[in-house]
Amino acid sequence: MTRIDLHSHSSVSDGTDTPAEVIAYAVDAGLDVLALTDHDTVGGWAEAARHLPAGFTLVPGMELSCAYQGSSVHLVCYLFDPESPGLAGELRRVRHDRATRAEEMVEKLQENGVDLTWERVLEIAGAGHPEHADANTIGRPHLARAVVEAGAAKNVQDAFDRWIGSGGPAYVSRYAIDPVRAVRLVREAGGVCSLAHPARSEGATNGSVPVELAERMVAAGLGGIEADHPSHNRPQTKLWRGIAGDLGAVVTGSSDDHGSLTGHRLGARTTAPEAFEELIAPATGTPLLKG
Ligand code: AMP
Ligand code: MN
Ligand code: MN
Ligand code: MN
Repeated sequence: MTRIDLHSHSSVSDGTDTPAEVIAYAVDAGLDVLALTDHDTVGGWAEAARHLPAGFTLVPGMELSCAYQGSSVHLVCYLFDPESPGLAGELRRVRHDRATRAEEMVEKLQENGVDLTWERVLEIAGAGHPEHADANTIGRPHLARAVVEAGAAKNVQDAFDRWIGSGGPAYVSRYAIDPVRAVRLVREAGGVCSLAHPARSEGATNGSVPVELAERMVAAGLGGIEADHPSHNRPQTKLWRGIAGDLGAVVTGSSDDHGSLTGHRLGARTTAPEAFEELIAPATGTPLLKG
């Protein structure tokens, strides 16, 4: 049985392992296919591609930050051409705003007496220049680690709860793409996509992506819904599997591994081979990378 995990992060965004280490962990976890989906960057693709053992398949991917009515909507995208002008332009904007916003959050933390520096946050993130499509992206987990180091939170989760979660004293929102437009941009770039963890939409009234939005995304070319995700409980998984069926999208399942931040969990959820084949069938932007 082919084991397929379609959502993972490396140190190129907010995961803790290098792309090479992510591949090694994926092999150890018994996976045959892994999508590397760092936030808003394709920076990990090249390194991961250099470390594929024979028989292992890498799906070049990315988790795109979208927003709808002030709440976060995440889109995991696969096999797109990162140089497609519409998508590339939006990604530059998102990366720029990630950097500006992180710096503003550092100022707010400092104003609240948290003893951390912008330099230290940059060091933890290993952040690159936002103009570069392969730049490392900075995210709140990097800030959270600096807050923990400064002794102002017990752990990363506690740093989100106390300081930087949506609505927290040091929270600053950031630019993100309209989800329907994002689906169109990914399809224009020859890629395919799945709605990531739909029952985890930060800032949404009931914590979930509205079904009417998912429906409009499917109409725009969304092929999958990530109903199987470690943060979904059983009723949420069941509900979103049903919604995927009703809307004619395939069900994807993924670990959303962030290395030690999530407790190494590659392969904790997987995608059925038939669903994977159906999802990627229309992709033309970038081929699968095989070891
Ligand atoms: P950002 O992309 O900078 O807005 O940060 C969002 C990232 O923070 C997500 O991709 C998760 O990796 C992580 N995250 C979000 N909420 C939490 C939380 N409550 N506890 C720990 N990590 C979180
Ligand atoms: Mn993340
Ligand atoms: Mn996400
Ligand atoms: Mn993710």
